[in-house]
Amino acid sequence: MPTFEDARNIILNSVTPVGIERVAILDSLGRVITEEMVAPWDMPCFDNSAMDGFAVRAADCLEPASLQITGYIPAGGAATTRLEAGCAIRIMTGAPIPSGCDAVVPVEETEESDGRVRIKAGVTSRQHIRFKGEDVRSGETIIPAGTLIRPPEISMLASFGKAFVPVFCKARVAILSTGDELIELGEPLEAGRIINSNALSLAASVMEIGALPVILGIARDNPESHREKMREGLKADVLITSAGVSAGDRDLVREILAELGVEQVFWRVDIKPGGPTAFGIKDGKPIFSLPGNPVSTMVTFEELVRPALLKMMGHSRVIKPFVRAVLQSPARKKPGKINFLRVRLSSENGRYLAFSSGDQNTGILKTMLMADAIAMLPAERTEFSPGEEVDVHLLSGNVEMLEG
Ligand code: AMP
Ligand code: MG
Repeated sequence: MPTFEDARNIILNSVTPVGIERVAILDSLGRVITEEMVAPWDMPCFDNSAMDGFAVRAADCLEPASLQITGYIPAGGAATTRLEAGCAIRIMTGAPIPSGCDAVVPVEETEESDGRVRIKAGVTSRQHIRFKGEDVRSGETIIPAGTLIRPPEISMLASFGKAFVPVFCKARVAILSTGDELIELGEPLEAGRIINSNALSLAASVMEIGALPVILGIARDNPESHREKMREGLKADVLITSAGVSAGDRDLVREILAELGVEQVFWRVDIKPGGPTAFGIKDGKPIFSLPGNPVSTMVTFEELVRPALLKMMGHSRVIKPFVRAVLQSPARKKPGKINFLRVRLSSENGRYLAFSSGDQNTGILKTMLMADAIAMLPAERTEFSPGEEVDVHLLSGNVEMLEG
């Protein structure tokens, strides 16, 4: 049975990016660019004013000076008239610097009357001018291949006229639920039935990282139903199944996947929750068989599936960083398996405090909702006392905790 880290490495080493495509710039948000972007021109592409004020010659303002205002250049205007000695040209932020000018004096530092402007002493050459190419030089790399596109990258791409961006494709992730007890959301709830919530929580997790869920519905606990749905699922880039992967006599997932040619890479991992997780490959496609308890399904997605999907979409940072937190509640576990503890986090004097979110039984969904983070309790340990440090990583939507 692989350890948690072995299992994650085996999975990561088995997957490769699904493909590349060119998309409209806004559709590249949250995706990974596949090619290096090079600046086709200087930015700024002309010398321009950094302030609303007056274009002057610094040499005219060594002493307090009164300069004649001889022109006006708004943003978007043209610097057609030359600035002569003893003169000033009114200029707005972003407007081109006229020839003859080597400094801009902000309007707040001037007094204007009768067509002249009074300037205090102490103007230095080059002040408040943004020079051509000072931000980016033509030919410079603006975005390396493999970069995640965020709003600043969008800004840079747009500034250089890149309306379309080459990015890694979104992985298409088929999601299959299994079990005779399941009904779909919206169907009448009869005795002994439960709603297929895993399909929706998995789809949400898939969407959250920018992949595309394909919900296949429910395979019933018989081979024909499994076969039919799984054949469909194997057409996607990834297949995730939930439930039916333990040792019950109706647990058919692994058996039918094998029949369909899926090579089982491992079954069972040294983790809790999530012990019965299986991983297989067919034609280079990964197949994840997750346990059915909603908490186990979500935790195994988070710890084992999410990194793989990110890698398939070209991301290089695929494993969430752990931070140290001071445990505030006692915890106890059996030796041998890593335990993922659902915790609430708070911060105090720059340190994170981790509180158990409550009952850690895998059947308890509520404590998953109350968790900000997952604490990873090492396999060999059994007793954890308040005050000791543990590794935690944040669950999605809790990035603000990093700032607390
Ligand atoms: P199993 O692995 O098939 O024994 O399922 C484990 C537990 O997860 C059972 O209590 C199931 O009812 C529950 N479960 C299985 N599939 C789903 C699902 N799609 N949505 C919510 N709960 C599920
Ligand atoms: Mg079942």
